[in-house]
Amino acid sequence: MPAVIQVDVDSGVEAAQATGADVSNTNGAATVNGIHKRVNGVNGVNGTNGLNGFHGRADTWPGSGATRPSSRSSSTGTVNGNQTGSFAADPHDPHENEAGGPRSRPFAHIRTWADDPKTAAFPRISKPMELMRHAYDCVVIGSGYGGGVAASRMARAGKHVCLLERGKERWPGEFPSGTTDAVEQLHYSGQFAPAWLPKKIVHGGDPTGMYHLIFGNGQNAIVGNGLGGTSLINANVFLEADEDVLQFEQWPKEIREKKGCLNEYYAKAAAVLEPEEYPKDWPRLPKLDLLKRQAQYLNMSEKFHRVKQTTRFRNGPNSCGVEMSASASTGQDATGLNDGSKTTTLVTYLADAWNWGADMFCESEVRYITKSPNNDGYIVYFAWHGGNRGHFKANFHEDLMWVHAREAVFLGAGAIGTTEILLRSKQMGLKMSDKVGQNMSGNGDMLAFG
Ligand SMILES: Cc1cc2nc3c(=O)[nH]c(=O)nc-3n(C[C@H](O)[C@H](O)[C@H](O)COP(=O)(O)OP(=O)(O)OC[C@H]3O[C@@H](n4cnc5c(N)ncnc54)[C@H](O)[C@@H]3O)c2cc1C
Repeated sequence: MPAVIQVDVDSGVEAAQATGADVSNTNGAATVNGIHKRVNGVNGVNGTNGLNGFHGRADTWPGSGATRPSSRSSSTGTVNGNQTGSFAADPHDPHENEAGGPRSRPFAHIRTWADDPKTAAFPRISKPMELMRHAYDCVVIGSGYGGGVAASRMARAGKHVCLLERGKERWPGEFPSGTTDAVEQLHYSGQFAPAWLPKKIVHGGDPTGMYHLIFGNGQNAIVGNGLGGTSLINANVFLEADEDVLQFEQWPKEIREKKGCLNEYYAKAAAVLEPEEYPKDWPRLPKLDLLKRQAQYLNMSEKFHRVKQTTRFRNGPNSCGVEMSASASTGQDATGLNDGSKTTTLVTYLADAWNWGADMFCESEVRYITKSPNNDGYIVYFAWHGGNRGHFKANFHEDLMWVHAREAVFLGAGAIGTTEILLRSKQMGLKMSDKVGQNMSGNGDMLAFG
């Protein structure tokens, strides 16, 4: 059992840490138990020079170029290019059968990196908790776009970065591919409040599972949970915000009053995420055709275009040196894409942060932040789900660990996760605006599964 010692928070949590004992805080009650071990010089401890390990994997894909039966054309009402249904599809382009192209892999079984015994245990970029240092220049919470960008840029600026992510690290090939796997990855919490039932606070499933369903009175939300955040399960659409929307009073004055001020940042994001349109010489997509026809019926043909998406349509390393594969068009993008074609933050900003020495820790759920007792930054308190600690539910959120952020904490736990951490921190004494938690809205009206 870890030692349990009493800490006077005012005299400095680090003093307790220096004993080598685990330190946590029982919701501010200043009791301590702890697991942190001070380990120096741990960069690259995973040892396997991870990302380089991915180069050359493309060679393991089937690349014979042999034609397979086209389930696309039959299901879309065409056979061998002849129209049998309500719309026509072109004969497929020669590019399709090229190595790595959409038809170079059998439909029956989409091979993934994890299928290859040589690479099944591919390297990780997150570290075991034992390797966490007691203090960093910056602590980043969450690993989606917000957290990923902060970690990468701070690490590049020469800061010692610690990133804490509640979910697990999974790479293509390890995401759920069936309903049973997916249900096991579900985590739900919040106020379950359909109109016909009494409101009820609910909490269940695996808190480190990939899909977090958050119930609320009037609105529910789904977010991704894992190293890569919601970029692991989003729909890959890369669109810039409409200038009219940026005129809403909820936006900061600096954005409202300076039209186009975000353009240089879109360009920076595009340079990393490398969005591309669905190629014109790839198989026709029935849904795309249908949308085009609908635009015609609405006299909006001129507005119809293929949006850029953070999907790869060719093999090869991405902007951050991670080997990617061309899309196999599996449609698994919103559940976790196994074919290696999704440009998530895992394969871009986080890989980059890793490359620049950032330490990342998964299964680490941040609860709240306080000012450091010595006025040198902040203390970030978190519950660690690893090492089977999650089984000790009774006091799981009381027996917390901590890490010291000497200069800054970046909150990138998503709109809901960040607000939750801030409001809890406020309860624990951190000063902040009364507006935190107000005026939230969703980015979509409806989510449907079919
Ligand atoms: C199904 C779906 C499709 C979407 N499609 C698109 C699209 O096509 N185009 C588009 O632009 N946007 C899309 N979005 C929205 C977009 O993905 C999100 O707006 C974006 O990912 C938000 O980024 P973020 O960094 O703020 O948060 P997230 O990406 O949600 O990252 C937050 C991270 O913080 C972690 N976290 C939360 N709480 C804690 C805690 N207490 N401690 C530690 N870690 C924590 C979470 O596990 C998560 O990994 C989609 C979203 C969904 C759900």
